[in-house]
Amino acid sequence: MSDFRADGHAAVDWAADYLERVRELPVLAQVERGDIRARLPTSPPDRPEPFSAVLRDLDEVLLPGMTHWQHPRFFAYIANTGSPPGILAELLAATLNSVGFLWRTAPASTELEAVTLDWLAQLLGLPSGWHGHIEDTASTSTLAALAAARHVRPDARFVVCSEHTHSSIDKAAALLGLELRKTPADDSFRLRVDELDLTEAAAVVATVGTTSTGSVDPVAAIAERACAEGVWLHVDAAYAGAAMVCPELRWAFEGVEHADSLVVNAHKWLLTPMDCSCLWSRRGDDLRATHSLVPEYLRTPEDAASLADYGPALGRRFRSLKLWAVLRCYGRDGLQAMIREHLRLAELFEGWVRDEPGWTLEAPRPFSIVCFRREGSDDENEALLARANATGELFISHTKLNGRYVLRLAIGNAGTTEDDVRRAWEVLRECAR
Ligand code: PLP
Repeated sequence: MSDFRADGHAAVDWAADYLERVRELPVLAQVERGDIRARLPTSPPDRPEPFSAVLRDLDEVLLPGMTHWQHPRFFAYIANTGSPPGILAELLAATLNSVGFLWRTAPASTELEAVTLDWLAQLLGLPSGWHGHIEDTASTSTLAALAAARHVRPDARFVVCSEHTHSSIDKAAALLGLELRKTPADDSFRLRVDELDLTEAAAVVATVGTTSTGSVDPVAAIAERACAEGVWLHVDAAYAGAAMVCPELRWAFEGVEHADSLVVNAHKWLLTPMDCSCLWSRRGDDLRATHSLVPEYLRTPEDAASLADYGPALGRRFRSLKLWAVLRCYGRDGLQAMIREHLRLAELFEGWVRDEPGWTLEAPRPFSIVCFRREGSDDENEALLARANATGELFISHTKLNGRYVLRLAIGNAGTTEDDVRRAWEVLRECAR
């Protein structure tokens, strides 16, 4: 145990040092494929090594091969934050090593998960009484929800969504043996309800905060159609759902009260380290009927629902501990402050692009993703992105809109300051020259 204590102090020191110096490291790993593997032994050690050897190799071998998601100038994909309370709670969850497949194997974890999801539902302005539980990722949450949709409408063949829906919907539909019907989007990249065809549909998916642009599908209008035609409505708010902690942004959730299921990733814009995806359903009984399968060895005298009955996985980590820690240590005020600051920074960057000759904005910006281009061809923009990322000073990614290559700057790291966003803009302009 003395080793554990000493090694633990060293590991926490390592973590604290890392968070202090991450800003000085290149955001995107500047290595070639195979570089890291070549530096690792090809076979495991025969004799035990001290934990200090692991920490040493973390520094010397692995760190150069890390793309630093905790870097304040990580602006690619959907930027996120593993916050200090979340990191420490992960350590504690691993220490407890709870496996929550039954209430009796993890009473505290099972009940804290319910309480935490109720708290988060209140923070996001969701209706009370929905069943909430945690899955690893939005991909799994969506799979669990669409499986329930298929369960209640076994003869249906389709999942309907917009052309800007995340690929996790395509994957879930494929895994469930359902076909995907993609609905065209309008000029602002929102699903066109006048084009919505729900014939033989098991489910329709509306996205609040698409991955490419952050666009918001008209949930209320989609809900009306889904309700009239008896089709399950799943809302994918994996990214932007967290922003609903700010009442002024709740316009984006109009109609969500009619959803049959809703996913919000705490590991995206809610300060919780990977992984923590929150799935609520108004139809918890259907979710349970779909996923519950109790073999003899798991039968218990208690009549308490196990959260494993609501999704594909049996063994469940104590994920609610980190989300609970985040909600307690930031509070509503802290969460709102971060979201509002990110929106302010995104608006600032958007203004710089708008005012600079030779650059264009490529999509409306509901949240913290700015889509833009430098004048020139797709290849020139792609080369610009590669040059900017090769500086190690920032990391941005791209998408395609209306068939054209578009650069994206996504703000989502709690450490990002105005200076970071300004520096990103300087680097992009330097690289464009
Ligand atoms: N839905 C949206 C809108 C997303 O942006 C993403 C990922 O970026 C996902 C779903 C998938 O999330 P996960 O990686 O948790 O499966």
